[in-house]
Amino acid sequence: MVDIAEIERRILAGEEISYEDYQVIRAEQERLNDLEEILSGARAGVDAEKEIVARASGPAVAIVVGHTKNSPGASGGAPIHKSEYPWNKGLAAMVHQACMAQGIQSKIFFRDGIGIAGAYKQVAKWGASCVMELHFNSYNGAAHGTETLYDEDRNAGSKAWAQRLQDAMLQALGLYDRGLKERDKGDRGYSSVSALDIPSALTEPFFGDNPSDAHVGEANKQELADALARAAAAQLMPSS
Ligand SMILES: [Zn+2]
Repeated sequence: MVDIAEIERRILAGEEISYEDYQVIRAEQERLNDLEEILSGARAGVDAEKEIVARASGPAVAIVVGHTKNSPGASGGAPIHKSEYPWNKGLAAMVHQACMAQGIQSKIFFRDGIGIAGAYKQVAKWGASCVMELHFNSYNGAAHGTETLYDEDRNAGSKAWAQRLQDAMLQALGLYDRGLKERDKGDRGYSSVSALDIPSALTEPFFGDNPSDAHVGEANKQELADALARAAAAQLMPSS
């Protein structure tokens, strides 16, 4: 993996950087943001462990909203006009509604004040059967398409779960299939997808900084929510 100093040198020299290099920058940024979030939460007296989370009864899907109010992630261009956090907060509510309509138990979790580790502790405490974390992508305004991140080593079921979510998003949005992306330690999204030993995946349905992708994402938000809920239903009730 290329280190930050080398990427910094390229940027300052006015050179193009690759998608992979950009991922390294974002991974580092999100790691630092996460530490800040945990520190500020601790100062404010937030305790993830103390939070009362009534246990789910039976199969249940956890929906984690990516990023935080303080560090809301990538900004979406028109017609989104929002960062990842507020946009996905809305999407999470829609997925939750769609799950209810399908008789699927779901609950929304946030990283605010507790970081990624804290949010996933709550997911575990709730007793989720599987977890999806909601994001959208960004790079150079031209990159486009749908991808899903997962960790191959942590839970054997994560790849199939990631594929279900990927297929659902492709069906809802009809964007370019960038495929599944396996994450290793240090990669962007790794701490989320490797936090728990349950099927875990991080969704990147479109590039918020690509005008065409952003339009498709915004126009089909409900379809996207319904598709993610259907994927959860298929995962939790495979026979139905
Ligand atoms: Zn994100």
